[in-house]
Amino acid sequence: MQKENHFDYIIIGNGLAGLQLALGFLKDPFFGSKKIALIDPSTKTINDKTWSFWEQGQGQWDSIVYKSWNKALFKSRDIELSIPLEDYTYKSIRSIDFYEFAKAELKTASNFQFILDEVQEIKTTSNLEIIGSKNSYTSNHVFDSRIPEAYFSKSSNYSLVHQHFKGWVIKTEQPNFHSKEFTMMDYRFNYKNSTSFIYVLPFSETEALVEFTFFTPNTVEEEIYDAALNDYIKKELKLETYKILETEIGNISMTDFPFWDESTNKVTKIGTGGGWVKGSTGYSFKHTEKYVQKIISNIKQGKSPSFNLINKKFKFYDAIFLDVLKRQNEKGIWIFEQFYSKNSVDTMFRFLDEETSFAEDIQIMKSLFSMTFIKAFFRVLFRFQ
Ligand SMILES: Cc1cc2nc3c(=O)[nH]c(=O)nc-3n(C[C@H](O)[C@H](O)[C@H](O)COP(=O)(O)OP(=O)(O)OC[C@H]3O[C@@H](n4cnc5c(N)ncnc54)[C@H](O)[C@@H]3O)c2cc1C
Repeated sequence: MQKENHFDYIIIGNGLAGLQLALGFLKDPFFGSKKIALIDPSTKTINDKTWSFWEQGQGQWDSIVYKSWNKALFKSRDIELSIPLEDYTYKSIRSIDFYEFAKAELKTASNFQFILDEVQEIKTTSNLEIIGSKNSYTSNHVFDSRIPEAYFSKSSNYSLVHQHFKGWVIKTEQPNFHSKEFTMMDYRFNYKNSTSFIYVLPFSETEALVEFTFFTPNTVEEEIYDAALNDYIKKELKLETYKILETEIGNISMTDFPFWDESTNKVTKIGTGGGWVKGSTGYSFKHTEKYVQKIISNIKQGKSPSFNLINKKFKFYDAIFLDVLKRQNEKGIWIFEQFYSKNSVDTMFRFLDEETSFAEDIQIMKSLFSMTFIKAFFRVLFRFQ
């Protein structure tokens, strides 16, 4: 193996997790002398998604935030809530802006190297050998954002709910959108009693992302999304003419599969492949920041990077929620009605950010107290032992 193909750290995957981790290393002088490679077959030049997240005050990505909002709407057939976000702001970032920003920052440092290659295998026999389609590399430690094989072979033992969606960025001639508030969930257009809703991000008075999203054990044909989007745009937004500028289609696995068990002292699973996408929400942008900080702090303390990375208490709560959604999908509307109407914004966001105390968790659980959750609690408790 040639010396130039040896690295202190190799990051597999230049997606959200890989690039946030690399930027974390870049910012910390501790890693200034480390030779770091980022391997991905993609040059990341396409805007493949919009990442949204909430945070308090200013954040480290503000220079690339595309649009932000301070008020959220929640609608179902029974309730309508306009929720001021108080200290929080909901922010959206176009993935292309994030990729461009991260690549430009990382290219300023000589210790980072981008390699266009697809990793086939990691051999952990005597040293760590990373076999790519074009070349082989060695490293002291690998951060791997690929989905582990075990997920495909063993996932039937765990809960899986698909967060699947199709959205259009639409443009109108005249001002039509209230660009100061976004629609978190509108359940009035749900499909056959399933947990499905419309999500709207107005980017300006004439442009918005309108998305039809399901949290269901099965996926649907594309016509189902199209019918709901057309229906919503015609009946709710009252638009007859508009242009579709972009289409976003996605499927995020909401699962309690223990991805983190695949990490070792030499290989740390990161991103979706490390279980960083929150099982109960499908969000991971903000969580990724925390995981990156924890990894950096572990390394600096001489611990294994994956040491204590995962908060098992919140994984347990996520598993209960997924159990309910998987078995009684029609309960989703009731769950979100209770969640949004009975808790403060601060408690809800901190709970979803995995920052609440046990006393605050109880408060949230009281708002969802029902036989359905009690049964799910015992089923998951039995499984987690
Ligand atoms: C359409 C969509 C919208 C989403 N919106 C949000 C949102 O609004 N908010 C939020 O918090 N989360 C959102 N998510 C969930 C989550 O944040 C994203 O999926 C996020 O991109 C996950 O980060 P990641 O690094 O694990 O994966 P990715 O960003 O997908 O990156 C993985 C990288 O690994 C590379 N790779 C794969 N195989 C190999 C290989 N063999 N060798 C080398 N490289 C490889 C890929 O090319 C890719 O660049 C969304 C997900 C999707 C799919």
